[in-house]
Amino acid sequence: MNLRFLGAVKGVTGSSHLIQFMDKKILLDCGMFQGKDEELNLEEFELNPADIDYLLLSHSHIDHSGRIPLLVKRGFKGDIYCSKPTYDLCEIMLVDSAHIQETEAEWKNKKALRQGKKLIEPMYTQIDAMESFQYFKPVQYDQIINITDGLTIKFNDAGHILGSSIIEMWFNEGNENVKLVYSGDIGMHDRPMLKDPSSIEKADYVIMESTYGDRVHDNIEQRTEELINIILKTTKRGGSVIIPSFAVGRTQELIYELNKYYDSNLEKIGTKENELKKIPVYIDSPLATKATEIFKNNANVFDSEARGYIMSGDNPLDFENLHFTQSAEESKALNLSVEPKIIISASGMCEAGRIKHHLKHNLWRKEASIVFVGYQAEGTLGRKLVDGEKIVKVLGESINVKAEIHNVEGFSGHADKIALLNWLRGFKEKPKTVFIVHGEEESKLNFAKEVKETLGINCIVPEYNVGYEIMKSKNVGEVLEVVHVEENKITSTASVKSSAKVNIKLINDLMTDLDELKEIFNHSYDNTKKYMTGNISIEDYKKINNTIIDLENELINLTMLTND
Ligand SMILES: [Zn+2]
Repeated sequence: MNLRFLGAVKGVTGSSHLIQFMDKKILLDCGMFQGKDEELNLEEFELNPADIDYLLLSHSHIDHSGRIPLLVKRGFKGDIYCSKPTYDLCEIMLVDSAHIQETEAEWKNKKALRQGKKLIEPMYTQIDAMESFQYFKPVQYDQIINITDGLTIKFNDAGHILGSSIIEMWFNEGNENVKLVYSGDIGMHDRPMLKDPSSIEKADYVIMESTYGDRVHDNIEQRTEELINIILKTTKRGGSVIIPSFAVGRTQELIYELNKYYDSNLEKIGTKENELKKIPVYIDSPLATKATEIFKNNANVFDSEARGYIMSGDNPLDFENLHFTQSAEESKALNLSVEPKIIISASGMCEAGRIKHHLKHNLWRKEASIVFVGYQAEGTLGRKLVDGEKIVKVLGESINVKAEIHNVEGFSGHADKIALLNWLRGFKEKPKTVFIVHGEEESKLNFAKEVKETLGINCIVPEYNVGYEIMKSKNVGEVLEVVHVEENKITSTASVKSSAKVNIKLINDLMTDLDELKEIFNHSYDNTKKYMTGNISIEDYKKINNTIIDLENELINLTMLTND
């Protein structure tokens, strides 16, 4: 069995790693290269896509999923396993990505025509993207799935974006067993709505991200407070607040944080919190609107705080004065009135999309504020504004920057160095080797050094397309018996939509019962393993475990529907 690293080895984008196990080829992620590595996207895949049997997808971000339609276009016909929210998000994000490819190709071709040059094709079209969805096999977190002889997998919540997963893989070949864990991207603790990253107890080998392997985030606690203060100051002087934001993830976090702030200050009549409630908030991005719906439909994976809101009858992604604009006309109308408002729009780095219009109408107003809540890559309009440039070009026009520019940190989706080390500390037995990927060179090397020094774990910073043999660990690691492939039962909210009115109290009681049942069951299964008493077989364990997960999800979905 061996591992090859085909992306996210020279930088952070284009995540893709290949496992060769017996006669099977398994790909972990199939991401798009972005920024300086963009031209790598159109190169041939290192192996024939038709020869790949399985793709395990950690999450929906384009640098992990963006080349799936291209893989399918070039012959891939295997199964794509991912969590259910990841699948839902891919359905909108890959089509959106295709739309961007098409628009870009069209624009380049107009130029090529004028210059008598050869026309190009988009990397993939919206039809290609839709074609790829037939290969997806969404699963629930914590389900134990045997995908082929000798390979069992489990997706665990990575707390990085809705649906993001840490993937556990158990390989079994004759007497040899190897457990491999792929971290995907790991989130920070206490992110809005999301659970903290799952800790994993055992692994022989780990493939791990290191985006912030040499950085520590600060300002996490103050982020909302800072944002609220900017909003109040700006609107008081008659200006609007423009927030360029990534449509998927960051925008929903902002909605959630605002809702939470309103809720936690409900009783303070006549205070700034109430002033804040009167300011209209517009989500002006069709993709963000669709993504918000997907978040609502996957409330079963929310953390306990967000579930608490749902259980108390509050939809945490909705509040009075929150508006979603759909058409381009509605979007343009936002700039016709000078009434102070908050506009959250994409793209997050101001490179495309409706945000450009809002910047054009507000950058020159000294009473307005532009608030950045995410990373701004070099060369982007967002970065220029953060760097303090006084004249910028927006939609072909030179604009004098008079608005206040703010950069609110603390919304990062990636674990910092301390959180990454803590995640590794969670392993009860030290892994043999950690392969460090998905980081700038310096970050990877520094993190590898830190892991070796503080945790005593061997680290490898892998080279591009070099094979690493890992089937050398006879009977080491946690062994799961081989179980049968199970048709994955995915709860669709559509199936419960008909039962519109459900008693909230009844659901609460059922949840409590289910929690109790889960505890008793896990305890008795532990005893079976430890003392060989009782007689729960691995088959039964898997069945009961998966049923409990299904029930839990059904209940949360039901509650969410009654809140709509
Ligand atoms: Zn990511």
